Amino acid sequence: MKKKIAIIGTGFSGTTIADLLSKDLNNSITLFESNSHPGGGCWTKYYGGHPYTLGPRIFYTPKSQTFEYLDSKVKIRQYITRSLSYVEADDNFYSYPLQWKDIERMPDRVKVKGELDSLNPKDISIENFESYWLSAIGPTMYEKFVNNYSKKMWSIKSNKELSANFEWINKGTPIRDGDERLFGEQLTGYPYNIDGYNSFFSNILKDKEVYYSTKVIHIDRDKLELTFDKNGEQGKFSADLIINTGHTDEVFNFEHGELAYSGRQLIKVVLPSEYAFDKDYEWVHYSGEEEYTRIVDFKKVTQHKSPNCLLTIEIPADVNRLYPKQIESELTKYDNYRNDFPKNYFCLGRLGNFKYTGICDAIDQAHDLFSDLK
Ligand SMILES: Cc1cc2nc3c(=O)[nH]c(=O)nc-3n(C[C@H](O)[C@H](O)[C@H](O)COP(=O)(O)OP(=O)(O)OC[C@H]3O[C@@H](n4cnc5c(N)ncnc54)[C@H](O)[C@@H]3O)c2cc1C
Repeated sequence: MKKKIAIIGTGFSGTTIADLLSKDLNNSITLFESNSHPGGGCWTKYYGGHPYTLGPRIFYTPKSQTFEYLDSKVKIRQYITRSLSYVEADDNFYSYPLQWKDIERMPDRVKVKGELDSLNPKDISIENFESYWLSAIGPTMYEKFVNNYSKKMWSIKSNKELSANFEWINKGTPIRDGDERLFGEQLTGYPYNIDGYNSFFSNILKDKEVYYSTKVIHIDRDKLELTFDKNGEQGKFSADLIINTGHTDEVFNFEHGELAYSGRQLIKVVLPSEYAFDKDYEWVHYSGEEEYTRIVDFKKVTQHKSPNCLLTIEIPADVNRLYPKQIESELTKYDNYRNDFPKNYFCLGRLGNFKYTGICDAIDQAHDLFSDLK
């Protein structure tokens, strides 16, 4: 008898695990996707003919096998990504990640250098996000680049709320000496195709059973049966194995409380010039009081040809559940859900694991689960 596998979500984690498990003809795979398309926020849409995704979705990975997997499905154009940070108090743009040479351009460089000189690498604190950055770059640099940005980014009142135990914390020195590549040594790129990653999703899923516009609203732990809703009509599906890449709290009736996420509204603006920024960099972070966190000159990412350019402006807003808040109380809440996971139920990806993950991590986690299931 075939093994019935239900996969919730068709982002990078759901689609990759479907691809791997479908190689075994004894597996019968059914996917459920609440959107009308696959790919989550990595699905390319168009505005005025300009391709864009929800925030720039650059692929980066330290692992050649992860690069080769994605590249075998959708050809990746390798290139170097650079970004800037605007500091309103200085009315200046600086490289991000931070660079020693930029300190010379700061109006308060004497104070900044004094603070940096007094720091001791042995005193780096990982008590919380704020204590880490204060101990790593001092109070003035923290104000310029981290304090407001992070509070906006995560929609929180204090950076003490955030755990220091996640990948955005730079474990080495957070100030670089010359290497302006955002992702350093990692293999970095974006698909050659003008529709970005779309063919990755559509090619893998074309011969699979996928229910789009169908949201899984409940999982019965004992029966391993899921309840879904399509246009107000409910149905049930029982499986031998469930892999959830969607929001964990929603399918378990919020039993341990609602998990906190930060969302984004995306404003699209077309301007009558070929590019908005210098050729060297693709986006700017805004670390001050502005409501937005990031503006992207999207043609730099997609290489779309047009006499005009598309800017996307990301504004933190409670309109979707995108960034899992890495707050101790939320991590504990997620652990409570995890402790109740039934047998033959697995979680994958950014929403499933309630952890900030990149595209490469979503692909890697799917490969790891595939090996575990073998
Ligand atoms: C604004 C932004 C910018 C980013 N930029 C980058 C970047 O530059 N580089 C990078 O590597 N990473 C980036 N990331 C992160 C990266 O894109 C994600 O980690 C990765 O795509 C996650 O894939 P996933 O499959 O785990 O989740 P998702 O892509 O979120 O897929 C989950 C899918 O499940 C569906 N779903 C959820 N709940 C249900 C349900 N109950 N029933 C049915 N379907 C459901 C959703 O509709 C979605 O399609 C960014 C993230 C954001 C938010």
